[in-house]
Amino acid sequence: MILDTHLHTKEHSPDSFLPVRDAVERARELGLGGLCVTDHDSWDILPEAEALRRECHFPLFVGIEILTAEGDFVVFGVGPFDYEPRRLRAADLMERVRESGGAAVAAHPYRDNGRGAGKLIKTLPGLTGVECFNGSTKHEANLQALRDARARGLACLGASDAHLVERVGRFATRFDGEPRNERDLIQLIRAGACEPVALGDAGGQGVPLSSNMGETAYVLAETWTLSQISGEAQHNPY
Ligand SMILES: [Zn+2]
Repeated sequence: MILDTHLHTKEHSPDSFLPVRDAVERARELGLGGLCVTDHDSWDILPEAEALRRECHFPLFVGIEILTAEGDFVVFGVGPFDYEPRRLRAADLMERVRESGGAAVAAHPYRDNGRGAGKLIKTLPGLTGVECFNGSTKHEANLQALRDARARGLACLGASDAHLVERVGRFATRFDGEPRNERDLIQLIRAGACEPVALGDAGGQGVPLSSNMGETAYVLAETWTLSQISGEAQHNPY
């Protein structure tokens, strides 16, 4: 199953222009198997999530993007709990994730907007995975993330980080299985049973991006659909 594992809704992320129902509609058009809603420091979609799943007849998984003192992490299976964005230490978040049996994915770690965890992903205890292909991040930064995740044997994910409907599905993650809920999703991430993909011309099948670390991704990036994505994603304010 291919999921976009990171996006922001207009309803619950102040910088997003993407209504959740539009995201679902676009994901369906693209042939995605589901979406993860990961609003900025907000679990506010949780109370309405079940009704949305029923209304849209589409798998929706709820996580959150938490801005720690060291950068952004997309987290599943934790909270709600009180914290102060930018003050919570990444190590404390990892500990909470571990205690909850959740999963923590470093979001766009090498993006140059001061919100990536950077080199910390090489050593941070408890980190479950790395967003190696983020649809709103430069390729060099994505590929550095891929190298680091591979070096540590962490799960590699791809996601759009969409704040606009046209960005939904700009990178996604193929999971070895059909997660029915957040618990299933966490198990698959923790098992590393996933890989980043680009949808491109392949539609719902997706093209793997990390099968041959570095080279394949570079070639794809330079010659194929990803170059368009890259061109549009050179700068990102989020
Ligand atoms: Zn984000």
